[in-house]
Amino acid sequence: MSPDADPARLARSIGADYAGIADLTGVRQFVHAQGGDRVAGYPRAVVMGIRLPDALIDALADRQDRTGASLYRHNYDVVNGMLDVIALRVANALQQLGYRALPVPASKRADDAVMAGVFSHKLAGHLAGLGWIGKSCLLVTPDHGPRARWVTVLTDAPLRPTGAAMAPRCGECTACVDICPVHAFSGRPFSPDEPREARFDAAACDRYLKKPGAGGLPAVCGLCLYVCPHGRRKAGRTARKAPVRRKTKRKASS
Ligand code: SF4
Ligand code: SF4
Repeated sequence: MSPDADPARLARSIGADYAGIADLTGVRQFVHAQGGDRVAGYPRAVVMGIRLPDALIDALADRQDRTGASLYRHNYDVVNGMLDVIALRVANALQQLGYRALPVPASKRADDAVMAGVFSHKLAGHLAGLGWIGKSCLLVTPDHGPRARWVTVLTDAPLRPTGAAMAPRCGECTACVDICPVHAFSGRPFSPDEPREARFDAAACDRYLKKPGAGGLPAVCGLCLYVCPHGRRKAGRTARKAPVRRKTKRKASS
């Protein structure tokens, strides 16, 4: 593929802060189990991300801040919309070159039972060498932690992968595990051999987010996003220290 047709370059030129290419051939079974035949037939993923502004994330530390919650919710939707547009442009560019290309929505739940989309953008980002899967199950980038959102285009274009799966750099940190108000994380480090359920009780998070938040508005949480030192370190910081909730009872992990 010529440099002019480089989808990662195109993505960056239209607003992506991150762009990488993942080789999906080794995770075909996993991809098929999540999304079925329609998404499992692609050997490559173009994964793209947009940073969330630190001012929005840092406001998440104050649960009573209606303004912060409202601004975060609005911008979260704006970023997801931007990502979907970028993915559409990249998919169309690949298609014009004669390749199959399937844009996967940035934020669209496909299965309410497991609370996941048809494809894991985080997995693609991890395989493309853009970050590691943290104990929070978020994709943690070395430069801005988990403070980004992601989208993917699946394709059969013969693109060269931009990296390999990054080893976890969480170390002894348990900040996201400790701060979660519903103890949704088991604290187990990511392992490709374990299902996500071994590390994350997505239903507990979902129930929490369905409760009314400040001023009767839908709840906003994201404390796991806020607290990660790999993001806060860069944010400065001026970020206020959030109260760390210690677990009284840790969830059993499989
Ligand atoms: S968003 Fe909040 S409730 Fe959900 S996992 Fe993160 S810290 Fe826990
Ligand atoms: S808060 Fe700590 S344990 Fe959680 S993802 Fe970030 S570095 Fe890893």
